[in-house]
Amino acid sequence: MTPRTRLPAGFLGALRAIAPVRLDEPLSRHTTFGAGGPADAYLAAETEDQLRLAYAAAKRHGVPVFIFGSGSNVLVGDGGVRGLTIENRTGRIEGPSQNGAGFKVRAASGVSFAALARRLANAGYAGIEWACGIPGSLGGAVLTNAGAYGSSLSDVLKTVRLAGATGEVTEMTPEQLGLRYRESALTRGEIADAVVLSVDLRLQRGDPQALKARVRELDAQRKAAQPPGRNCGSVFKNPPDHPSWWYVDQAGLRGHRSGNAQISEKHANFILNLGGARAADIVALMELARARVREQFGVELQPEVMLVGEFE
Ligand SMILES: Cc1cc2nc3c(=O)[nH]c(=O)nc-3n(C[C@H](O)[C@H](O)[C@H](O)COP(=O)(O)OP(=O)(O)OC[C@H]3O[C@@H](n4cnc5c(N)ncnc54)[C@H](O)[C@@H]3O)c2cc1C
Repeated sequence: MTPRTRLPAGFLGALRAIAPVRLDEPLSRHTTFGAGGPADAYLAAETEDQLRLAYAAAKRHGVPVFIFGSGSNVLVGDGGVRGLTIENRTGRIEGPSQNGAGFKVRAASGVSFAALARRLANAGYAGIEWACGIPGSLGGAVLTNAGAYGSSLSDVLKTVRLAGATGEVTEMTPEQLGLRYRESALTRGEIADAVVLSVDLRLQRGDPQALKARVRELDAQRKAAQPPGRNCGSVFKNPPDHPSWWYVDQAGLRGHRSGNAQISEKHANFILNLGGARAADIVALMELARARVREQFGVELQPEVMLVGEFE
């Protein structure tokens, strides 16, 4: 069946009135893993209105819809993604502006967390410099309360603007979003049918030289600890007693391969696409790691990466 026959009449026309649409777009081009099949219909939203309206159009036509930002925390199945896939390329940034004793910045959900963290640190605003190595968008960061080095988005988040199924916009606090370690009310399914449009972050004045030095230090730490190449960052969330890499390492899987996917030699909670890996190879490594760690330690590793679309 071709994608066109799966999409209801009038849907593509409605979408094309919002932004250009591509059919059968390979999603391996758009994710940091570089694996997985095509999207039936694909649209890149450059503005918050395009994001909101494309999402509402899919909902109105009963078409499944998947939204992604930088694709740095997803594994797309080899069978691809049915319905509409929206890439969030929104990039508006307002501020920082004085807000009480501190400062506020409003950034569209498509803005890169790392790029914003670097820009603000360079300009002498403190609060999110720890995020200088998180390659995802702010929308993706809301979903999993992205964090590093003991800090997370919830520490600096004031409010989030969300769009619902009919395009209506609401504002929520971090408490309403129920942000916890690598999860939120959105990932738990407690809030359904919502797209993150923008976030308001709380900042303070800092010393630009000290902030730049901190960013350099964190860059060096990441470079020393994490492998280069195509990956999704941490594959599993860290259980309470030991980090996930320790369990995978103890299970003897450091460097283990399936097809062109490999558990990193450098960091055993990373899986690398060595070139042309299938999503099925990556899943096989994840399942092997979970099974071995379960048998050996009785610990259930929970994926941090989100599996999207059709797998074998
Ligand atoms: C090298 C590397 C290092 C990493 N380091 C860290 C780290 O230190 N800490 C950390 O927390 N993470 C880290 N990550 C993981 C990743 O960068 C974060 O999870 C990031 O927040 C994901 O953002 P994204 O835009 O890439 O999300 P995507 O992968 O595009 O999407 C992830 C999920 O969020 C949903 N989503 C995305 N945008 C929206 C939106 N606007 N509205 C509604 N739903 C949305 C998607 O549907 C999907 O379910 C790392 C990844 C890599 C590749």
